[in-house]
Amino acid sequence: MEGSISSWDVVIVGGGLTGLRAALQVSRAGLAVAVISKVHPLRSHSVAAQGGMNAALGNVKGEDGAEDSWESHAFDTVKGADFLADQDAVALMCREAPATVIGLEHLGTAWSRLPDGKIAQRPFGGAGFPRTCYAEDRTGHHVLHTLFQQVLGRDIPVFGEYFVTSLVVDGGRCTGCTALEIMTGTVHGFRARATLLATGGFGRIFSRSTNALINTGDGMALAFRAGAPLKDMEFVQFHPTTLFGTNILISEAARGEGGTLVNRDGERFMARYAPRAMELAPRDVVARAIAEEIAAGRGFDGGYVHLDLRHLGPGVIGERLPGIRQIAMDFSGVDPVTEPIPVQPGQHYSMGGIGVDIGGRSALPGLFAAW
Ligand SMILES: Cc1cc2nc3c(=O)[nH]c(=O)nc-3n(C[C@H](O)[C@H](O)[C@H](O)COP(=O)(O)OP(=O)(O)OC[C@H]3O[C@@H](n4cnc5c(N)ncnc54)[C@H](O)[C@@H]3O)c2cc1C
Repeated sequence: MEGSISSWDVVIVGGGLTGLRAALQVSRAGLAVAVISKVHPLRSHSVAAQGGMNAALGNVKGEDGAEDSWESHAFDTVKGADFLADQDAVALMCREAPATVIGLEHLGTAWSRLPDGKIAQRPFGGAGFPRTCYAEDRTGHHVLHTLFQQVLGRDIPVFGEYFVTSLVVDGGRCTGCTALEIMTGTVHGFRARATLLATGGFGRIFSRSTNALINTGDGMALAFRAGAPLKDMEFVQFHPTTLFGTNILISEAARGEGGTLVNRDGERFMARYAPRAMELAPRDVVARAIAEEIAAGRGFDGGYVHLDLRHLGPGVIGERLPGIRQIAMDFSGVDPVTEPIPVQPGQHYSMGGIGVDIGGRSALPGLFAAW
């Protein structure tokens, strides 16, 4: 088959939450945009996101009736990052988060609800308020389907199962990319005034990871080979609770709803590491605590601890954590209603990547990145 060359204002590599949301915005601006994804967009790893999205909507009051604010969200984020985060970027994210969640609602996302009809929010690690907006424990699934429907509704061309193999650089500027059509083996050229890499993380370089097999850091490699520097690659997040043996994520929502961590001596050991926040300390604190318990011989054979949800009862588990229950039963033969879940830490999130400014511009003109 003969390859083709097409021209666009903007080419977006990635059909996950980042790529599809960006495509909608570019299309709304009246520009010609195409999305390229090496898998069908609905198979992008975003579909696996479980627990929810932080935004200071203030729908649920904090302790003493205090109301959440974007400033509190920003403070918690900077503190949770041990003061290493880019504070301008944190401020932007926290200020825009409420409008983003409500915008996703207007596009059709079926957020879980409070009895008064407002978007539900629950506590998450490192957060001073119940701030996490969620759609059961399948938030990524709901939001990704919403965005994909919107992309289809606007007739945005999506090149699914096209694998981008290189960026094209001409005169010191990124002018598009080449992609292999997986079904036929044909190579196509995509010319673009701007190219956005929304290609997700590189979790699969670790043996224990919550990430899908497709999370191989392609975008970072593409950018690096084209001359755009990478940044903060050593900042890799390890999630405290992945299912022992498979490392499928057991969402923090399970602890947000009241799940407790217990070692082989039956001790709720977080009391020793974070007596105030307990299981809802920031992820690095909880992951290190579990690793320490296991290293000290207080884990179960093979290297895990227990996440106990039994006291929540079948009602809360069925209504707010149905996906977690299903995962535990299908992949571990454990029903969290009657037994604790065996968990261990695993790689979860790639915080570093292509170096960009607050507007997503990389050092290579014409090349942008977001995640
Ligand atoms: C199990 C799990 C649960 C999570 N839960 C939450 C949560 O509750 N809340 C939260 O905020 N975050 C959560 N996260 C993180 C969140 O899911 C990610 O930050 C987010 O989904 C990333 O979206 P993305 O669009 O940037 O990347 P992805 O969804 O990974 O999409 C990457 C896209 O790039 C495409 N691509 C990659 N390489 C190429 C290539 N060479 N050619 C063509 N296309 C390519 C892929 O096909 C895909 O479409 C979770 C992560 C995991 C692993």
